[in-house]
Amino acid sequence: MKHLFAIFGNPVAHSRSPLMHNSVFKNLNYPACYTRIHLEDGSKLRETFFALGLSGANITIPHKEEAFRACDEVRGFAKNIGVVNTIVNENGHLIGYNTDADGFMEAIKEFGHVETVLIIGAGGTAKALANRFVQDDIKVTVLNRSKEKLNYFKEISTCHDWEDFKLSKYDLVVNTTSAGLKDEELPAPKEIIEAILNNTSFVADAIYGKVTPFLKLACANNLTSKDGADMLLGQGILANVLFTHANLAIEDIKFHMLRSFEL
Ligand code: NDP
Repeated sequence: MKHLFAIFGNPVAHSRSPLMHNSVFKNLNYPACYTRIHLEDGSKLRETFFALGLSGANITIPHKEEAFRACDEVRGFAKNIGVVNTIVNENGHLIGYNTDADGFMEAIKEFGHVETVLIIGAGGTAKALANRFVQDDIKVTVLNRSKEKLNYFKEISTCHDWEDFKLSKYDLVVNTTSAGLKDEELPAPKEIIEAILNNTSFVADAIYGKVTPFLKLACANNLTSKDGADMLLGQGILANVLFTHANLAIEDIKFHMLRSFEL
């Protein structure tokens, strides 16, 4: 039987996940294919999943917290953070996981030891990364446009909105906002971003497939930076292992996903 997988999001047209997973399925002769679903209303995730007869799914903006609620059971790290980016259908039960945070940790290995991180944004990705950093005793600061979303982070990090931002030194600054994804916006006012970039060693953006204004400014400041492609690869490999029940070798999955980046 051929299995069907999908990514749910809004927007979702930019997603590389179908290419990545289909490249693995096709080249390793795994009987499956992977499509994308534009989903306006996150509360329809569960019924859409079953209506399409999916074996599994990835979830992207803005539905990762809704995906947590759609699951019958949530396993591992996702349970602590309430954010799900991967769902596997186990005999009609939806099992949720989060592979973003471990995918990101893999992506920043090349920066070496990191002790202090500033996360810009306070959505699902920020939650996953903040909790994962804290797990490794990394000191976290979160900066977000709106005050409300910061409440979640108060126990695990120093929090600022744009009005009360206080500058410190950071080893790494990560943009987890969607500013720059479909527009040319910076994730915070320019004077704040410039001050931050003068006080960090490394810069990462969760957005991939384009050089965001944030990354452009980091490059102009001669900072070592990376976009979200390696995070995408890291989370995709871990999701594929879950989808295929660990029947494919990780090195083979990685090889074919990386090749799909050239398409
Ligand atoms: P959410 O919708 O959960 O959160 C978005 C955050 O961005 C909010 O804190 C919001 O702030 C902020 N924001 C949105 N627009 C702007 C703006 N114009 N200026 C400043 N802040 C803004 O999104 P996710 O956390 O799920 O995803 C965020 C980004 O990370 C997306 O671009 C996504 O594509 C990318 N991503 C990439 C991955 C990869 O594999 N490379 C994996 C996961 C995510 P406010 O509270 O004020 O609304």
